[in-house]
Amino acid sequence: MISKARLKQLAEKHGTPLLVVDHDELRKNFRTFRRFLPRVQPYFAVKAGADAAIVRTLYKEGASFDVASMPEFELVYENIKGMAAKKRQAWIWNKIIYANPIKPVETLEVLDEYKPLVTFDNFDEIEKIKKHAPHAGLCLRLKVPNTGAMVELSSKFGASPGEAVDLILEADRQGLVVEGVSFHVGSQTTNYTNYVEALNLTADIFREAKSRGYDKMKLVDIGGGFPAPYDSSVRPFRELARIINSELKRLFPKHIEILAEPGRFFVATAGYSVAKIIGKAVRDGKPSYYINDGVYHTYSGQIFDHAKYPVKAFKRGKTKLSAVFGPTCDALDVISMAEDLPALNRDDFVYSEMIGAYTYASATTFNGFSPAKVVHVNL
Ligand SMILES: *Cc1c(COP(=O)(O)O)cnc(C)c1O
Repeated sequence: MISKARLKQLAEKHGTPLLVVDHDELRKNFRTFRRFLPRVQPYFAVKAGADAAIVRTLYKEGASFDVASMPEFELVYENIKGMAAKKRQAWIWNKIIYANPIKPVETLEVLDEYKPLVTFDNFDEIEKIKKHAPHAGLCLRLKVPNTGAMVELSSKFGASPGEAVDLILEADRQGLVVEGVSFHVGSQTTNYTNYVEALNLTADIFREAKSRGYDKMKLVDIGGGFPAPYDSSVRPFRELARIINSELKRLFPKHIEILAEPGRFFVATAGYSVAKIIGKAVRDGKPSYYINDGVYHTYSGQIFDHAKYPVKAFKRGKTKLSAVFGPTCDALDVISMAEDLPALNRDDFVYSEMIGAYTYASATTFNGFSPAKVVHVNL
């Protein structure tokens, strides 16, 4: 938790727009995950907040990583290889999963020497992997219900349960090893039965594969989707953990390894942004503030992630319904049309909390405005 006073000091010191990442909070989230899901090894989904310092902190806590592109692979590899070598692990396999079911041939060719674990969900991908990364281990990505998730992740990826075992057997026929099954229930999933349904579908696939003669599967990757506590409607993580733990126990014997790919859950609450008011006007009778950060930058999650980040003032005072706009010329660059804010002036700072996931990760330089400076605290 970073106090308002500290946030303001940081903005004065580093300038705005600023994105502050609190590493105490990263560690706290990681430990919460491990404590409530002791059987599950978390692979941090780097796309939620691709940053070297975050990778190093989570690695030291014991995290593994989920990457989906060569630059993400390199970000993780370069930042952990020194630390991993010290531990003398046969480490890539345990530390990195390449969880993008569709991989460019060029990427497979580079990845092959690392003998990575990669996901797949279609016949064409089996052919590509066989030809360009024959040393990879495979994990079948299964299509599962994403009901009620804030961000749907099942229309673009995932083998349907009906074709899953056909795919596993085809990979086997081509001499590849399918290590297990993965799924994603949708990001910011607050409907916890999605996990129950997905785990039961996965257990069905294990059974069917076995009955058709394939017995080499030893891992289940339960993906991401673990919700950040953006508001009070999100039920506690321990409630979700209890549901997952009891299904895991019921469906999968102890020797089956369980992985997860939490992204948002680790980084969302660790991020704070501070911006400055660069102009003000009254539009349709409403106080309207223009700040030096917006939806093309730290607030990009409002577009891509369907999230909302309330804008708060450091100043106190009687509040009025106000609008907050980003700095670009695009009328899409609206952070909020209805924020309760006290009367503010040019150069005043405003801030947002829980803005660490899918925010600066998808910031652009549109219209010439640079993304926020990222500052790490409590490293
Ligand atoms: C985005 C993504 C994640 C992370 O999802 P969260 O909802 O942020 O936990 C995990 N796995 C895959 C394959 C993803 O695409």
